[in-house]
Amino acid sequence: MRIGFIGLGSMGSAMALNLVKAGHDVRAWNRSKVDQGSVPGVTLVERAADAFEADAVFTMLSDDPAIREVILDAGLLARAQPGLTHVVTSTISVAFARELARLHDAAGLGYVSAPVLGRPNVAASGRLNILAAGKADAVAAIEPLLAPLSRKVWKVGENPARANAAKLACNMMIAMAIEAMAEGVVLTESVGLDRADFFALILGTLFSGRAYESYSAQITERSFEPGFKARLALKDMRLATEASNEIGRTLPMLDAVREGLSKAVSGGLGEKDWSIIADMTVRGGDGVASSKNGAEGKP
Ligand code: NAP
Repeated sequence: MRIGFIGLGSMGSAMALNLVKAGHDVRAWNRSKVDQGSVPGVTLVERAADAFEADAVFTMLSDDPAIREVILDAGLLARAQPGLTHVVTSTISVAFARELARLHDAAGLGYVSAPVLGRPNVAASGRLNILAAGKADAVAAIEPLLAPLSRKVWKVGENPARANAAKLACNMMIAMAIEAMAEGVVLTESVGLDRADFFALILGTLFSGRAYESYSAQITERSFEPGFKARLALKDMRLATEASNEIGRTLPMLDAVREGLSKAVSGGLGEKDWSIIADMTVRGGDGVASSKNGAEGKP
């Protein structure tokens, strides 16, 4: 099977490499120049259209506008060969997933929404959780390709938007967990309880989940290198807000974490890990200025 890959950022490069390691021939395109040494075995191509000359194409670009520009505006769907299945693994909006499904259908192409859970190190180890949704034949066609990328593929139905809504809900809840831990630290450090001891307590009793394990470690170590960049997390909180607005609902905790991330990004912390919002909350006052000076290990 000929595989195309569009977007060799932190996530895409790790995923493309795992496809190569699984024995696939992968032709990949990235907007800016990629060092061949960082993706050994991947064939780098000049144009996104070259990567689209395939039986299956993965897209791991940052957001809706990037996919619109690279795939739709460039007319790649009209030029794709019949039978091609396009797997969009980026975190995109629910509305855009619906639009992509409709446009692929009209072009006679398969479409699968397959957003992922897991940071670049998890992608590199081929242990992502993949949320896949699309027509049964399209999902079946690409399922063997998802295997070397993932610890599990969670099939959530034929409506692609389901996978995207589930992914946005997951990220929204992780952001809330990060903020919840930070607010716990504010209360407990005020009476001299070390944050590592507080986290040992909550992980061992009430909150023994992966998000709590992973992000409590970052908050304890005051280590905010990405990981998942705050600017991309803000994009996701905005997409979750759009999805809730579409159904006429306001989600107050979502509003709070989105505003925290917005403050981080507008304050110049967009390239830090999204858990930087915990540092801002713990520091209080003008959390942005204080986090900017104090991130990378300094209390
Ligand atoms: P990243 O490292 O910032 O990579 C973004 C990719 O998109 C790069 O290849 C970039 O190309 C490309 N791109 C952006 N705008 C473009 C445009 N207008 N035209 C062409 N290419 C464009 O981001 P990432 O962390 O890999 O994330 C990719 C997606 O995965 C996002 O949707 C993110 O929300 C999702 N995700 C990320 C994580 C994580 O922990 N990082 C986890 C799960 C899901 P250049 O190299 O030229 O800039």
